[in-house]
Amino acid sequence: MTYTNFTIETDADGIALVTWDMPAKSMNVFTVEVLDEIDRIIDETVADAAVKGVVFTSGKSSFSGGADLTMIKGMFAMIATEKASDPQNAVQKLFDAAGRMTWLWRKIETNGKPWVSAINGTCMGGAFELSLACHGRVAANAKSVKIALPEVKVGIFPGAGGTQRVPRLANAQDALQMMTTGASLTPARAKAMNLIHQVVEPDQLITAAKQMIKDGLKPVAPWDEKGFKVPGGGIWTPASAQLWPAAPAILRRETAGNYPAALAILKCVYEGLQVPFETGLKIEQRYFTQVLQTTEAFSMIRSLFVSMQELGKGARRPAGQPKTEFTHVGVVGAGFMGASIAYVTAAAGIRVTLIDRDIEAATKGKSHSETLVAGAIGKGRMTREEGEKLMALITPSADYASLSTAGLVIEAVFEDRDVKKAVIEAVEAVLPEGAVFASNTSTLPITGLARNSKRPADFIGVHFFSPVEKMMLTEVILGEETGDRALAVALDFVAAIRKTPIVVNDTRGFFVNRCVFRYIHEAYDMLLEGVPAIMIENAAKMAGMPVGPLSLNDEVAIDLSQKILKASVADLGEASVDPRHLRLINTMVDDLDRRGRKNGKGFYDYPAKPAKKSLWPGLKEMFPQKKADAVDITVIKQRLLVTIALEAARTMEEGIVTDPREADVGSILGFGFAPYTGGTLSYIDGMGLKTFVALCETLAATYGDHFKPTPLLLDMATRGDTFYSRFDPYGAVERAA
Ligand code: NAD
Repeated sequence: MTYTNFTIETDADGIALVTWDMPAKSMNVFTVEVLDEIDRIIDETVADAAVKGVVFTSGKSSFSGGADLTMIKGMFAMIATEKASDPQNAVQKLFDAAGRMTWLWRKIETNGKPWVSAINGTCMGGAFELSLACHGRVAANAKSVKIALPEVKVGIFPGAGGTQRVPRLANAQDALQMMTTGASLTPARAKAMNLIHQVVEPDQLITAAKQMIKDGLKPVAPWDEKGFKVPGGGIWTPASAQLWPAAPAILRRETAGNYPAALAILKCVYEGLQVPFETGLKIEQRYFTQVLQTTEAFSMIRSLFVSMQELGKGARRPAGQPKTEFTHVGVVGAGFMGASIAYVTAAAGIRVTLIDRDIEAATKGKSHSETLVAGAIGKGRMTREEGEKLMALITPSADYASLSTAGLVIEAVFEDRDVKKAVIEAVEAVLPEGAVFASNTSTLPITGLARNSKRPADFIGVHFFSPVEKMMLTEVILGEETGDRALAVALDFVAAIRKTPIVVNDTRGFFVNRCVFRYIHEAYDMLLEGVPAIMIENAAKMAGMPVGPLSLNDEVAIDLSQKILKASVADLGEASVDPRHLRLINTMVDDLDRRGRKNGKGFYDYPAKPAKKSLWPGLKEMFPQKKADAVDITVIKQRLLVTIALEAARTMEEGIVTDPREADVGSILGFGFAPYTGGTLSYIDGMGLKTFVALCETLAATYGDHFKPTPLLLDMATRGDTFYSRFDPYGAVERAA
């Protein structure tokens, strides 16, 4: 029999090597066709008496990334259309679809012949669940092998037997930890958890897998053997009495009850361990069907899986522009940002010239990479050779002439129009024809900066976030005259350094900072009202934000807030800022020298380590404090999320952001906007425009006009639109409101 996605070679010992290698795909993923073929492979190998066992592996450098986007999109489309006409049948269909992998993997487990999964590279989600259903699991001892059940990160959970097999192999606490965080395991850790049998050198992988079969591997899962005991003895043991009462509380502390999928994992494990294995699978299938119907799952999968991949693959790249392969990039300004930009560029294998005012400053910038490389080598994340290769790619210099072969130059010099003007002129004097100039400015409009350029069509903003090494997002800013080629080059660069881009039209603060400062300003309002700072910070976390607004302000620096407020007054007039905010910030910076984390005092105090930061008690004296029970925590949570979401809606209304995927992904990757919502616009779509508008009106009545719904929102509410229908990125309605 022949297959599109698999080859089968049976050796003289009767071991069939099934190699998964999907044509025209860089990674193996599960599609309906792949599942059908696996089904046929099971039948074929069972029927063939010459086959004694099966080794299942991948022909790609990775094993598999899990499910395919189109399959997941198809499931949601099915729920949306069928639910409207026949809700009960729709749920039944969803239940059946949710069980497809579950029972196919079970078929592998009970086929009667031993199967061994040979994990040669990254093995995620459904692919690891398939491996768990095999009777043996061998992984290659390589850095590239990462094993994970990461579904919870996109709002679902391991629903193809993962919640039943993992806690029957590993102890319950490790199992819960792995699945509720979605964390990646190294092969060694997976072996220590009892999730795989062997870790061998990569060139021994197939031999070792075959050897397991030759050594008489039993084609029976441990839980199908008589007398099987769950590790640690199951739910009703003294050890479990320590774990289970605390587990929901710990989960609540970590997730504030915002993630239905995480809670479902707990339920699947707790209930599943008390029943026979197949009943456990049914329990899992039911919870999975339930979770698939939540707004959280829909929105998270759309933003964190589908849109993120689409943007990463160049969804906004202008058509007809040839792809740029970067051989040489210039970075001007070797300070805090420039030094990191040079590092991520070299880490992508691109030669970088790092320029500063003198060679000492440029060399100091390069030393940042030295520190990072040394750290990575120390942690075993990089070999010494890789580190040396990376360092050799960075050349510090004070000579602009060395930029004459660069295809792209990024400036990260002081945030000062005159300094930037001089740099633009100096770079353009040597830059080759067709090369692109990018500014990393965070506050200066690109159109204004481009006025200093002789070739504004090749001038663009590429706005990084700190710490550059960790932050996945990059804003690409279009000036009025920026051309398509510059956009394509910028997007190719962002892809080369493996970050996710959003394309934003020029505006003060671009997208991310406009939203972030709304969040921070709402906290200023709350302080002025006398809301205890601790309640503001905790409410933010309960709403799903990773960092409270006051803590965030300390991180970005309070004097930066002051600079931005003052610049707004200078450029746009007094009315553009709230004078009470300016007074608060002037007091913090000018009178109290509280500038944030960088000088050890801001809204928080930062004592020497190991002591932890704590809210500055002086805040209580600055504002008469409300009693805790006079503060409605639900309203505080709403205000913090709504003010950000409203700002995101404004950027769409103004045409600053044009694609809802970018507002959603940008808000999650840029500042961690409550990921369970799927991002700022999915938050609005998720509750429905009518509800959102009503909420804005209620908040506006008490907390100010900045909560008033905008004309666009009012219109959308009247028409029954959503952001994804009105600004449909695919040109077709994906899901009714
Ligand atoms: P920084 O002060 O740490 O670094 C600026 C560097 O530019 C210094 O090393 C300085 O010597 C060098 N420089 C100044 N004039 C120069 C010239 N004429 N030629 C060559 N080098 C020159 O500043 P930073 O925080 O790295 O910020 C740099 C830029 O990045 C600014 O535009 C800032 O708005 C933007 N930005 C900063 C952040 C952040 O978190 N700090 C985030 C995003 C964007």
